[in-house]
Amino acid sequence: MNGLGRGQDQDGFIEEQVRADRLHQLFRQSFSAIFGSYLAAVMLCWLCWDRFDHSVMLVWLVVLGLTSLLRVKMFTDWFRCPNSERTPQRWERRYWITLVLSATVWGAGAFALMPTDDRLSQVLVMLFTVGMSVSAVSCYSVYRSMTLVSMSLVLLPCTLWLLVQPSPMQVGVAIAVLVFSSFVVSATRKLSDALEKAFRLTRQMERAHSISTRAAQTDELTGLMNRRAFFEQGHLLYAQCRHQQQPLCALMMDMDHFKAINDTHGHQAGDQVLRQIGGVISTSFRQDDVYGRLGGEEFAVLLPNTSLETAHAIAEQLVKAIAGLASEPVHGLTASLGLASTQAEDLDLHGLMNTADKALYRAKALGRNQVAVAQ
Ligand code: GH3
Ligand code: MG
Ligand code: MG
Repeated sequence: MNGLGRGQDQDGFIEEQVRADRLHQLFRQSFSAIFGSYLAAVMLCWLCWDRFDHSVMLVWLVVLGLTSLLRVKMFTDWFRCPNSERTPQRWERRYWITLVLSATVWGAGAFALMPTDDRLSQVLVMLFTVGMSVSAVSCYSVYRSMTLVSMSLVLLPCTLWLLVQPSPMQVGVAIAVLVFSSFVVSATRKLSDALEKAFRLTRQMERAHSISTRAAQTDELTGLMNRRAFFEQGHLLYAQCRHQQQPLCALMMDMDHFKAINDTHGHQAGDQVLRQIGGVISTSFRQDDVYGRLGGEEFAVLLPNTSLETAHAIAEQLVKAIAGLASEPVHGLTASLGLASTQAEDLDLHGLMNTADKALYRAKALGRNQVAVAQ
C-alpha cells in the first residue's frame, strides 16, 4: 500500500474514533435528561393541577413514564456492556428511537394540555417547553441533529398552535419563542463543531504521540527495538524475573566478518542482510522475550524463565537459521553468539550483558559461527 493510501486509512480510523467519542460523550451527558424531562412534566402538572384536564395529565405522565423507563433500560444496557461493544453502529439507532419517542410524547402531551382559554397556563406551558428545548442543547450537543430534532418535537406543536391564534399576544409569544430558538439553533452548530474538533485534535495528538514514541524505540533498519528500548524493556524484565525468582538468560550476537560483506557486495547488500537477520530474530523468539539491535551488526536477546540448557539450544538453532539464510548475492552468512545466565552467577542486567559479551568474544576467538557459554 502506498503512503497516501495508508494516510487515508489512518484518517478513516480517526474519524471512527471521533464518532465513538461523540457517542460516549452523548451517553455521559444525557443520563440526567431522562429524570429532568419527567420532573419537568410532573412540575408543570402540579403547577396547573386545577387548570388542566386531569385525565389528559395522567395519561401524559404514564406514557412519559414508560418512555423514560425505556431510556433507563437503554442506559443500563450501555453501562453494563463492555467497551468494545459500545459502537455507534450498535447504539446510535437505538438512542435515536428512544429520543424521538420521548420528545414526541413530551411535545404532544404539552400540546394536548394547552388550554384554549387560559393565557397564564399557555405561558406556563411555553415556559416549560422552552426550558426543555434549552436543556436539549446541554444534553445532546455532541449530536447537533439530535438537539434540533428533540427541540422541534417538544417546541413546535405548541408554538405553531399559538402562532395561528387570533390574539396578538399569543402570536407575539410564538414569534418570540421562534426568534429565541433560532439563536439557540445557531449556537448548537458552533457547540457541536467545537466538540467534534476537540475530539479530533485529541485523537490526532494521541496518534502523533504513539508514532513518535514508536519511532524513538524502533531501529529503523530492522524494525526491532533499538538499544535504548532494549535496555528499558530489559530492566523491567530483569526486575520481574528477580521478583519471581526466575532465571534470566542473555544472548549477545555479532555477525561474522560483516565488514567483508560490505566491502565485497556494498553497503546496501549489507543493510539487506541486517533486515533479514531482524526478520529471523523477530520470528524466532517468544512474546515474553526481549530482543533488539544494539548497534551495527550486534543483536541481543533476553530470555526470561529459561534454563541455561534451553537457552543454549535456542542459540544453536539461531546460529543454524542464520547459516541457512540466502540473501542474494551474499552467501555463507554466519554469526557468533555469547550466552550468560543469572542462574550461574548473581548479576545485574549490565553485569549479565557484559558476561554474555565476553562469551561472544570467546566464540569469535574459537573460530566464529558458534555459541559460547559464559564460564
Ligand atoms: P567480526 O567477525 O570480528 O565481527 O568481523 P566484522 O567484520 O563483523 O567486525 P565488526 O563487528 O567489528 O564490524 C562491524 C561492521 O559492520 C562494520 C561496519 O562496516 C558494519 N556495519 C555496522 N552497521 C552497519 C549498518 O547499519 N549497515 C551495514 N551495511 N553495515 C554496517
Ligand atoms: Mg561482526
Ligand atoms: Mg560488531
